[in-house]
Amino acid sequence: MKYIGAHVSAGGGVENAPLNAKAIGAKAFALFTKNQKQWNAAPLTAASIAAFKHNCDTHGFLPEMILPHDSYLINLGHPEEEGLNKSREAFNDEMLRCEQLGLKMLNFHPGSHLNKISPSECLSRIAESINIALRATHGVSAVIENTAGQGTNMGYAFEHLAEIISQVDDKSRVGVCLDTCHTFTAGYDLRTKDVFDQTFSKFDEVVGFNYLRAIHLNDSKKELATRVDRHNSIGQGFIGMELFELIMNDSNFDQMPIILETPDDTIWAEEIRLLYSFIR
Ligand SMILES: [Zn+2]
Ligand SMILES: [Zn+2]
Repeated sequence: MKYIGAHVSAGGGVENAPLNAKAIGAKAFALFTKNQKQWNAAPLTAASIAAFKHNCDTHGFLPEMILPHDSYLINLGHPEEEGLNKSREAFNDEMLRCEQLGLKMLNFHPGSHLNKISPSECLSRIAESINIALRATHGVSAVIENTAGQGTNMGYAFEHLAEIISQVDDKSRVGVCLDTCHTFTAGYDLRTKDVFDQTFSKFDEVVGFNYLRAIHLNDSKKELATRVDRHNSIGQGFIGMELFELIMNDSNFDQMPIILETPDDTIWAEEIRLLYSFIR
């Protein structure tokens, strides 16, 4: 079974996210549990936590189909001590918020070396940051998102994801989220059945489908291998519609949140309906 949703607003409180997801016909959703552009946030209140759980229950959203995303400020591979410590503290807090909400995963972009340390040193720092967060919390998995590879962002190559995982102590609580736009602009073609199969068999060989926890489903405003992260609506970008039909008919993507981060939120309901209509 496919669980399609979108990264919905949690404006006015996290408890509104499941309502916003329900309104667009989603079976899964992503959210920020705090303002993603700020370092600090007030702790979640007991009332907000209870309302979130109630709204998820009422509308049938399982914790396994909810994929919180961390703040964009966090860099778990930061080359400098101050930035690294600040990022680790903020990440631990985000993991804790997920735990309080009864959720199972936290999705994040791995980190950037900022040209001050080597890529491999950056990957080791990211893995150590994950180890610290897993020791500090319970039941929440760290879900690493692949990136387009803009600037000094790590995580654009499947080998980066595999290297981070290899250095994480508790392999039962680490996983991967593949963003189709990032995958494509990082240089892995997805446009036809042949290249789709090649890209995902490469993923399986290097990382393993057993680590795949979620998909971010986006088309791309930029061409293959441009290393630029610009999402487009389904079928309207350089990837094109065939990928989305392939994903919807591939059981490797069953039983996990498949999240739209497409730019036009006024057509999310329509995009979700379209995707479900592809199932043969
Ligand atoms: Zn994404
Ligand atoms: Zn992106």
